[in-house]
Amino acid sequence: MLPMNQLPDRVRLVIFDLDGVVYRGDMPISGARELVTWLHDRRVAVRFATNNSMVARAGYVEKLAGMGIVTRVDEIVTSTSATVEHIRAHAPEIGSVLAIGADGMRTELLDAGLEVVMAGDLAGDGHDGGPLDRAFDAVIVGLDPQIDYARISVAATAVTAGARLIATNADARYPTAVGFLPGAGSIVAALATTTGIAPEIIGKPSPAMFRAILTASGIVGAETVVIGDNPDADIIGARRAGCAAILVLTGIADANSVTRLSGDAVPHAVAADPAAVRELLEARLS
Ligand SMILES: [Mg+2]
Repeated sequence: MLPMNQLPDRVRLVIFDLDGVVYRGDMPISGARELVTWLHDRRVAVRFATNNSMVARAGYVEKLAGMGIVTRVDEIVTSTSATVEHIRAHAPEIGSVLAIGADGMRTELLDAGLEVVMAGDLAGDGHDGGPLDRAFDAVIVGLDPQIDYARISVAATAVTAGARLIATNADARYPTAVGFLPGAGSIVAALATTTGIAPEIIGKPSPAMFRAILTASGIVGAETVVIGDNPDADIIGARRAGCAAILVLTGIADANSVTRLSGDAVPHAVAADPAAVRELLEARLS
């Protein structure tokens, strides 16, 4: 059954997924710039939420500016920055972290005032499985293109010693222009398997990322619309965070696949493209 249009009467916050909604890889999606500009002009709060943990938010401001889309750093939410917000709101006792991830993730964690040790720096040339010299409040895991056995080893040891295991995201795959690479979820799975500890997952389809955005913006889910191209990530995450969701058919999903969606993957409305999203939102902005 095709989803009905069940969007809230009043929308104060619009959260965009990036890849498949605003751009595909390095190519802007036609009409996305106009949609964002229109929302900005109407003074609707706008956020851009990506599961990518590797690039600091400033990197996305730059990338979007290159496509003519003007944004502020505080409008960008990566799975790393959402993890920081999640810690602020729900686990302020976390001060020291052992991190697996890329440079952009390290930058975000340091900027948040956390004490950060990178697993690669601690592991050095290897790890013998013995206790670490020190304890960490949490192990934070993002995608680390340099991941190796020693990094997994020290992180697993820290978790076994009592650090919380927090996954910025658990994406199984990281898409590239020509195929895919293992995602952060592959590294998270290695740690979960080794330690027997279930990770706390922040990125979509977990609702934690959208909840972190709602908390930080002070706008409730009932006045928020998420625009995403991936039913299994964006739509499920939005629904579970209490937000409405528009599935836009410029990325992963097409009109045929929409009819097969079920449960929390069913969007509140479907739009062919950014212009159709504007039509859906037109009467709902106060
Ligand atoms: Mg997407």
